[in-house]
Amino acid sequence: MAQPNYRAPKGTADMLPDIARVWEHLLLVAQDLFARYGYEPVYSPVFEHTDVFVRGIGEATDIVGKEMYTFEDKGGRSITLRPEGTASVVRAVLEHNLTANGQSTKLYYSGPMFRYERPQAGRTRQFWQIGVEALGMADPTADAEVIALMMQFFEDAGLPRERLQLLINSIGDENCRPVYRDTIAQFIRSHAGDLCEECVRRAETNPLRAFDCKNEGCRTVMGQAPQLRDELCDDCAAHYAAVKTNLDAVGVSYIEDPTLVRGLDYYTRTVFEVQAEGLGAQSAIGGGGRYDRLVEVFGGQPTPGLGFALGFERMFLALQAAGVEVPRPEIAEVFVARTVPELATEAFAITQRLRDGEIAAEMDHQGRSLKAQMKVADRLGAQFVVLVGPDEVAAGQVTLRDMTTKDEQRVDIADVVDVLYEALADVYMDEAEDMLDAIDGSEEI
Ligand code: AMP
Repeated sequence: MAQPNYRAPKGTADMLPDIARVWEHLLLVAQDLFARYGYEPVYSPVFEHTDVFVRGIGEATDIVGKEMYTFEDKGGRSITLRPEGTASVVRAVLEHNLTANGQSTKLYYSGPMFRYERPQAGRTRQFWQIGVEALGMADPTADAEVIALMMQFFEDAGLPRERLQLLINSIGDENCRPVYRDTIAQFIRSHAGDLCEECVRRAETNPLRAFDCKNEGCRTVMGQAPQLRDELCDDCAAHYAAVKTNLDAVGVSYIEDPTLVRGLDYYTRTVFEVQAEGLGAQSAIGGGGRYDRLVEVFGGQPTPGLGFALGFERMFLALQAAGVEVPRPEIAEVFVARTVPELATEAFAITQRLRDGEIAAEMDHQGRSLKAQMKVADRLGAQFVVLVGPDEVAAGQVTLRDMTTKDEQRVDIADVVDVLYEALADVYMDEAEDMLDAIDGSEEI
């Protein structure tokens, strides 16, 4: 057992192969899908000048107030590990002028984020997100597109739609929100006796956050608060209506949640969140919204923007709860075993020849006996073993053993890749037929 100091820090976890494989599967799904929607990859640093987040996310938010990993570097700069992706990506877009002359840009990212939160199932201090940011697009079709993209991602990743709930809301803009904030602050003050201390304090700092309180009593009271959707200015109301029309037009179903405000200050107008079944308290698997003022906060020209981010840890839990398995790729389709230790180099050369031929091949590097090598071949699930023995090698050949039928044949080393292609193709064809039979069978039930 590792000493406490040599264990992963509280709130972090190693992504061992069974989990890392799911992460990589999601990255492939994202790459393929996002490219079809015109998104390109971007990687920004995992740390930024602290101001990027303080100004970008907002001083009165939980993230900035309590959750950031902030430190002074050796040059005396205040540095923060990124707690989310949007502020960094928008900073990069502005720094490199990607939206100059009214150009639009669509970017996606993935990687670790850091928040000093109380760890629990689905909530960690280092967590992994996949997200998109679309800059320069003001039309409501863009909101619908980003939302549709997120829902399509879940579907392509294998999460059944019926296990997800898409919540949407509009939180207005700089015209209508300040008035509404005052209304809510007033509402909180007049219900102070029935709300938790934190919510009462929020009246003075960030009143809309009271809608996010997990306390049942506060939720009941806030459920009776005036709703912003009734007080949106004409432009925001028209924008919100058009977002819904566009979602309806492409068959993306949603639930309007007038209490959805989300925890980051930069949002304007459309906000959305997806909740998944089977996650317990941390049921939000992804979310996002529009942030039309964020570029200006960083000193740029007014530039509309919107995006979403989804969390891997919760995605993993949701996939597990739904019984979705990411297939484990074959570690070794073929195992190369030598009958005597002296043929290690020949075995290595043949293993490399197979790998050059894009066959997943493995050999022993621990001086095992033939019997032990065959056991490893079994454990790795190899379909075939290439036996390298002195007689075969003298004749420029190897023996190929089919691990299922135990049939053996001599093959010229020069032909071994081609023979294995054919043999493996037969195996995969049989497997595919079995799979189709299973699907046909299950449809009959
Ligand atoms: P947010 O940036 O807060 O809107 O979060 C977007 C998504 O990131 C959430 O829906 C979660 O899936 C994920 N997420 C946020 N915070 C955490 C955390 N502390 N641990 C794990 N996942 C998180």
